[in-house]
Amino acid sequence: MKKAFFLDRDGVIIEERNYLADPGQVALCPGAAEAIRKMREAGYLVIAVSNQSGVARGYFTMEQLAAVEQKINALLEAENARIDAWYYCPHHRKGIVPEFSRECDCRKPKPGLLLKAAEEFDIDLPHSFLIGDKLSDIRTAENARCRSAVLVLTGHGAEEKNLPGAEDVQMEKDILAAARRLLSGTE
Ligand SMILES: [Mg+2]
Ligand SMILES: [Zn+2]
Repeated sequence: MKKAFFLDRDGVIIEERNYLADPGQVALCPGAAEAIRKMREAGYLVIAVSNQSGVARGYFTMEQLAAVEQKINALLEAENARIDAWYYCPHHRKGIVPEFSRECDCRKPKPGLLLKAAEEFDIDLPHSFLIGDKLSDIRTAENARCRSAVLVLTGHGAEEKNLPGAEDVQMEKDILAAARRLLSGTE
């Protein structure tokens, strides 16, 4: 079995932009490429897991989501970093696009995206990590029985760290600091 780092996209890999639809607005978070290189060098798969309810809400299409993904991949490739796979939840209960407007089992904090990736890549969840910028990301890691998770203070993390329930959550300033902390515990 393989070990993985599960990474939230917005506010962790790339700068948070409200309902990002334009590849031209993509900017990597500081340290993201280096963090991903370190994860891969340590033998981990790197899997992005992202709620994108903007699809259900009609703000952007799956094609636009794919164009943003291509842009991120190109920026990472230029720094010798690579994401192994991307998993999205495009759903929302109160969406307007019928195909995607429903309750689902993949919208974080539900563990569906992680469970699907684990099945497709033969991932050992209890030896895998998650990095996110929302408490709901941390809950997702717990719900999927991951080994550990870190909340970063980029993106929504700056506000989320003050919310009820954040008291016992591990925090680091960004994805690179989070990667270093989680990897240092595995030596
Ligand atoms: Mg996020
Ligand atoms: Zn979903």
